[in-house]
Amino acid sequence: MPCEGARVNDQQSIQTVFVANRGEIALRIIRACRRLGLRVVCGFSEADRGAPYLDLADDAICIGPAAASKSYLNIPAVIQAAQILNADLVHPGYGFLSENAAFAEAVANAGMVLIGPKADVMRRMGGKVRAKAAMIAAGVPCVPGPDSTLPDDLEAVKAIADDIGYPVILKAAGGGGGRGMRIVRTPDDLAEAAMLTAQEATRFFGNPDIYMEKFLERPRHVEIQIIADSHGHAIWLGDRDCSMQRRHQKLIEEAPAPEIDRSLIAEVGERCAASCREIGYVGAGTFEFLYEDGQFYFIEMNTRIQVEHPVTELVTGLDIVAMQIDVARGGRLPVTQDQITTTGHAIECRINAEDPETFAPSPGRITSMHLPGGPGIRVDTHMVAGAEVPAHYDSMIAKVIAFGATRTEALSRAQTALAELRIAGVKSNAALHDQLLSEPGFVAGGVSIHHFEQWLAARE
Ligand code: ADP
Repeated sequence: MPCEGARVNDQQSIQTVFVANRGEIALRIIRACRRLGLRVVCGFSEADRGAPYLDLADDAICIGPAAASKSYLNIPAVIQAAQILNADLVHPGYGFLSENAAFAEAVANAGMVLIGPKADVMRRMGGKVRAKAAMIAAGVPCVPGPDSTLPDDLEAVKAIADDIGYPVILKAAGGGGGRGMRIVRTPDDLAEAAMLTAQEATRFFGNPDIYMEKFLERPRHVEIQIIADSHGHAIWLGDRDCSMQRRHQKLIEEAPAPEIDRSLIAEVGERCAASCREIGYVGAGTFEFLYEDGQFYFIEMNTRIQVEHPVTELVTGLDIVAMQIDVARGGRLPVTQDQITTTGHAIECRINAEDPETFAPSPGRITSMHLPGGPGIRVDTHMVAGAEVPAHYDSMIAKVIAFGATRTEALSRAQTALAELRIAGVKSNAALHDQLLSEPGFVAGGVSIHHFEQWLAARE
């Protein structure tokens, strides 16, 4: 329930965007709205009350207690806050309700426009299993495994695993954020693993359904950014490599993906854009693939803006968040596929408030902060000295993004930037990033998704 009253909106002719999110992406959306001349308002939880980035919005009201389930995930509270603040459009950011089709429906039913695809398209492409089925039908190669959830019958599950061949990976059908996944190497481990993954899937995502696919031993994570308008135009904006991950969560992202045949990327990118046209997709989105031995295998689609969108913005010169808002308002894409050119290289390091040794979150008050700058450096953060990192949410507090004419230049600028970055009051993984950027495997380019964990094990 909103806990503060509305303020008068005296600019009825100018559209208002409600930010249904927090932190750095809320600020990123505020910035895009400013560029477009839109009014922008935020909903915040008790834990975020007084957060400095909220001062940059035109208005903000409380949507509930600190627990995300009672605020950022509370559909009625979010809708009511957006209505009180006279919102025309709702930006869900990433995480929270950003891929929740019930939320998309609630926004539409309340007479507002969600900045993202319609609920039915979200259901079709946001659900991992349905998206896989849709991609198989569209002729896009997927990781081997059925395009349906697993049956209850254990013998049938065993037969599926035998058919795919071990190792296999079990995944929560409603999963996200790298959680609810389990690798199974032998038939003996299958029953217990399936039970545990289903339990996790219920606990994290409220949906016990799980599915199975071949576990690829040394793939890279390569993804395609797309954007589509409501006039039948869909384009792809290049690729990103997000293979540097810890426990399936991305740590470093870059664009373009090093050492991959550009004509193969273009072929995959065209297919992604074509699928968007076929399904009537509107908005920004990402097709995620695993890439191994020169082959792309679709794993899932994210029907929202992603954390790593800035690397694509730096190499294409586009403002993806502004484009995303514009297409939601019925605007036409301002560029055609022919006009998309990528130049140079960009690398993003996710700075988390966490212990660099144990990876345990390190919430608290930031006592002082110095952000890097200079040519080719962009820092997306909502943090300033005196700001609080709440314990309730994701620990990412900043993204340090470096652009260079070449990958070598981008790497070198990223390192200079990390050396300049100072954060006191909470622990951060900045030094870890600095080590990773000079790690020979990463410098060479094209590491697999298991590289970080292998590097960590070798270091110990
Ligand atoms: P989430 O939605 O939780 O991010 P994804 O399906 O995108 O889940 O997978 C996240 C990560 O898990 C991938 O980037 C990759 O590192 C790993 N992964 C997923 N599927 C496989 C697979 N079939 N084989 C090997 N690794 C996988």
